[in-house]
Amino acid sequence: MRIALFGGSFDPPHSGHIGIAMAAVERLHLDRVLMAPVGRQPLKRDQAQSPYEDRMAMVQLACAGHPPLVASAIDAPQPDGRYNYTYDTLQRLRETLSAGDKLFCLVGADSLQTLHHWHRAAEALILAEWIVAARPGFIPEASEEALEEALETLLPAGVHSSQPERGEGWLRLRLTGPSMAPSESGNSRQGRLWLLPDLHYDVSATDLRAALADESAGIPQRVLDPRVAEYAREHGLYDRT
Ligand code: ATP
Repeated sequence: MRIALFGGSFDPPHSGHIGIAMAAVERLHLDRVLMAPVGRQPLKRDQAQSPYEDRMAMVQLACAGHPPLVASAIDAPQPDGRYNYTYDTLQRLRETLSAGDKLFCLVGADSLQTLHHWHRAAEALILAEWIVAARPGFIPEASEEALEEALETLLPAGVHSSQPERGEGWLRLRLTGPSMAPSESGNSRQGRLWLLPDLHYDVSATDLRAALADESAGIPQRVLDPRVAEYAREHGLYDRT
């Protein structure tokens, strides 16, 4: 089974999320993408979020009709209120997999820009193969050399990318770094990063929250699933106070 973790606030989940998840499914032949709303997001400390249960309910609605996408509680709030770190979530997920399974971690290109602040980022990069989806304004489609150069500035200290290889709809790079030496068992512990360079979903949850707060604003179905919009409005998630 080829399975990807796709974490996020999903407040609300939108067509950008579904679009990049389905592109990853098709291009990398994934069997399943776990869309996991995050309990407490360490890098969005000051931002109020809708309750976890509501974000989970909206993710369930957004995944309906896209069978490889499954809402997952793997990143649910911690009982002691601690932040949720992707490194820990990937570890937990790995423990549930069988020997032949392959684990991926899907993020948008804007997340790559904060990667060096992530908890145990270099180690997280070898717990799974990373899939980075282009997002308008971040990592434009460019030559292999330009992308490698951009990545050098974004990857955690000591981690380097090399050997770019292009396939249909993806660019794959090998990652090497201090925590990526061959393991004692002789298995390669090198990381791999897959870029999906030509995706242009010009939508953000921030804009959608503003649009949902404005009762008169019409939101096109192509950016927000009407069932998600209805849920958000019925529960008054983004009403102005
Ligand atoms: P906000 O506007 O509240 O910051 P968001 O739209 O960025 O939200 P998140 O739930 O924070 O959505 O994103 C979860 C993941 O999805 C992140 O890895 C983010 O990079 C990615 N993502 C979100 N929107 C897009 C998009 N339009 N294109 C590509 N990736 C996206």
